[in-house]
Amino acid sequence: MKTRTHRWTHPRTPGIRIQLALWYLLVFAVLVLCAGLLLYTQVQRSLESSMDSALVLRAQTLSNGISVEGGTINISAETSGIGGYSGEQTGSHEDVNFGTLTSLLDAHGRPVRMTSAFHSLIIPAVSVTQPLHGSPWRGTVTTATGQRVRLYSMPLTTQDHTFAILQVGESLTQQQDALHSLLLEMCVIGPLILLLGAAGSYWLAARAFVPIDRVTRAARQIEVNDLHQRVPLPKAHDEVYRLAVTFNTMIERLEAAFQHQRRFVADASHELRTPVTAIHNLAEMALLEGGNLDACTTALHDITGETERLGHLISGLLALARADEGKTILEQEVVHLEQLVGAVVAYAQPLATECAVTMQLSVSQPVVVIGDESRLIQVVMNLLENALHYTNRGGKVTITLTTNEHVAHLIISDTGIGIADDHLPHIFERFYRVDPARGRTEDNRNGLGLSIVEWIVRAHDGQMKVESAVGQGSTFHVFLPLPDDDLAYKLPAATRMRSSGV
Ligand code: ADP
Repeated sequence: MKTRTHRWTHPRTPGIRIQLALWYLLVFAVLVLCAGLLLYTQVQRSLESSMDSALVLRAQTLSNGISVEGGTINISAETSGIGGYSGEQTGSHEDVNFGTLTSLLDAHGRPVRMTSAFHSLIIPAVSVTQPLHGSPWRGTVTTATGQRVRLYSMPLTTQDHTFAILQVGESLTQQQDALHSLLLEMCVIGPLILLLGAAGSYWLAARAFVPIDRVTRAARQIEVNDLHQRVPLPKAHDEVYRLAVTFNTMIERLEAAFQHQRRFVADASHELRTPVTAIHNLAEMALLEGGNLDACTTALHDITGETERLGHLISGLLALARADEGKTILEQEVVHLEQLVGAVVAYAQPLATECAVTMQLSVSQPVVVIGDESRLIQVVMNLLENALHYTNRGGKVTITLTTNEHVAHLIISDTGIGIADDHLPHIFERFYRVDPARGRTEDNRNGLGLSIVEWIVRAHDGQMKVESAVGQGSTFHVFLPLPDDDLAYKLPAATRMRSSGV
């Protein structure tokens, strides 16, 4: 039976150029729409107000030819266009778009004269009552067929009373046509502007991305084996420049890390090869000796020493590799540092006696820190072993533990051979050894001790400092943060030191 597998594909998001162009388009569309609306309403308003002014002017001109005498309304001969007598309606009205729309009413609102086109208008009562009360009225009325007409109605007065009402109108059809064609033009021009805007914004976005493309292409050409290459910096000190600088700094760090890693692997292989070669040679020599039991015993004894050295080296390498990977989990326990230091000093006493070096411990008060007890033992032990190893017979090693503000301060000072200034910055590097021939030769020396010490101190949020003068001695300082009182109560106390006797 055939089965069909269906691979789920995410819908592709459009590229950043398209996204930018679309955003531009959206903003542009909103702007064009707002501008169009504003233009349309402005034109409409100005057309309306100019028509109103024209109507007022026409009404005032006509009113000049109308007077009242003894209750009779007289219309001068010059006042043409006011229409004929309107008592009868013919039924066939002229179109409101042609001819004038004028009507004259008496003080009771009865028509006196009216142009024939005026008959077709549906006139609201307010257009008569309001002028009868003395104030003019303006508004839009319609014909029976739905055509719209702007109407102005004004009272004609003598000193004390209103004797007639003059109504003047004008069809809005032309105005509506003008607005309609404006709307049509906007509907055609608007999308055209938008289309041009979209094309322009796409082009702009494409142009803006040219320098980024250049950086991307250059970055793509940089291979792992080729990390000395850099991305070219653009001339303008803009965002792309900052991107390129950041990228170059990152490559620089990567290059340093790769170099560091390569050197570490080379050094580790070199260090591992020495004991392996020694074991190989010792085994071969023992084989050549044939059945000589004494020679074989000596060879096995030497091989045991070399394997111990090898084991020491491998555990050091493993600790650092785990630390690099961030896989080492440090315990969080309450450690009584004064007890720990005291125990390590006591443990190292036989070695000190063997080296004929005096040790002096000075602890002023109990010091509690939070951390991994076994790792902290390693720190003190390594520093103490170094001090004993690099101090000549008859010398002195002083171990002091104090607190200083919020830190525990451990000082291991010796009167040994010291370290020259040019070596001092490197002694915490992996496999760095000032001179392998210095100091005593019988120990497991591999140049990893101080790297491990420094890593443990850093992992405890602490710091290290070293001062040294050739021929006078060295002083190593370890600073570890002191915990808040309530945290020290919450965590379990370390037990390993007492159970293992260091
Ligand atoms: P090593 O196993 O060689 O002692 P470390 O990492 O412990 O490696 O030390 C690195 C180098 O620092 C040593 O090679 C040694 O020359 C120098 N050094 C460390 N401690 C002391 C000290 N107390 N006095 C003089 N030199 C020291």
